[in-house]
Amino acid sequence: MGYNIVTKNNVRDRFAPAPRPEIWKDTPDKDWNNWIWQQQKRIKSMDVLEKVVKVDDDERNAFAKSHEMFNMGITPYYASLMDPNDPNCPIRLQSVPKSGELNILPMDLEDPLGEERDMPVPGVTHRYPDRVLFYTTHNCPVYCRHCTRKRKVSDPSSSAANKQLEDGLAYIESHKEIRDVVISGGDPLSNSDDRLEYILSRLRAMDHIQVFRIGTRNLVTLPQRITDSFAQMLSKYHPVFVHTHFNHPKECTQETFDAVARLANAGCVVNNQMVLLKGVNDDAKIVKELNHKLLMMRVRPYYIFQCDMSQGISHFRTPVEKGLEIIENLRGWTSGMAVPHYVIDAPGGGGKIPLLPQYLEKREGKKWHLRNFRNQKFVYEEP
Ligand code: SF4
Repeated sequence: MGYNIVTKNNVRDRFAPAPRPEIWKDTPDKDWNNWIWQQQKRIKSMDVLEKVVKVDDDERNAFAKSHEMFNMGITPYYASLMDPNDPNCPIRLQSVPKSGELNILPMDLEDPLGEERDMPVPGVTHRYPDRVLFYTTHNCPVYCRHCTRKRKVSDPSSSAANKQLEDGLAYIESHKEIRDVVISGGDPLSNSDDRLEYILSRLRAMDHIQVFRIGTRNLVTLPQRITDSFAQMLSKYHPVFVHTHFNHPKECTQETFDAVARLANAGCVVNNQMVLLKGVNDDAKIVKELNHKLLMMRVRPYYIFQCDMSQGISHFRTPVEKGLEIIENLRGWTSGMAVPHYVIDAPGGGGKIPLLPQYLEKREGKKWHLRNFRNQKFVYEEP
């Protein structure tokens, strides 16, 4: 017997396109959808931001005092997701300065993950035996107010010049124990396609390199950057993993759906690394909604990071209990695919340490006393 296949796929329709604010209403689509136009029109001043949202005093004062230390830069696309009337909108909190940034606490660290300490050549952090972080630029389309690398991101004078790039590639080439390269920044997609392809082709020609990861927030802040030709270029160098950084369901739009589709259709595996941020996503319902949307877009929720101890981001930090509570409210209540690992990236460079609610109640010899997500008790006995 034949089957009549139903061809309707309405998943994309469940994502709304980003609304276009008044100031860009007459912008031709060919410009709005062009990532270079989006980069060129980034909002860098309060005068322009005022045309998009009702800026409040705290934002205005914080901008005046912070922008020389850490620039403001917001793509028109990302700004279009802002609530114009709510300064606590999760998109605004992530991209517009707030006075909390000006508080530097005694425990804050300039380089919380000790990335500069484990740097054998400028631009390469080699801490773990078989993998390295490779910094290729310090520019990003949007400067996230919670960025852990504020010490150098947004400062063009600290960007990777060609000599630094060549020295980094030479280091990776000469260290045969390196298997996995995380191409990072800033945002590596701030490089041109040609420069990125040069880096990927050099790495792929090294017999000891197995996989690359590209750490990028362009999917969230500038999805127009993921062009067909860029995705096709990546497909020549598989396996390529793309690690991105969605923090709130508002960031999941039809534009991001299409951008992920271009990468996934070109064979890339896309993982999400959410950062737990007070006022943005410190709520299990928000995280669950985000993770469900990510799965519909073919992005795997991979990590929830406890907010790092970087300088000037303490106003984003939540108690650790909040992260555990979120995991407790996900595990069992939704599919395991929607439950990321909750980790603290240990200050000083200790690496990622996973944290879980306590599901093991006690151990008696070969008997393990466990509880499940409904708090029901079970005993698993070893032979
Ligand atoms: S995209 Fe990443 S590196 Fe750039 S500002 Fe945001 S968090 Fe920092």
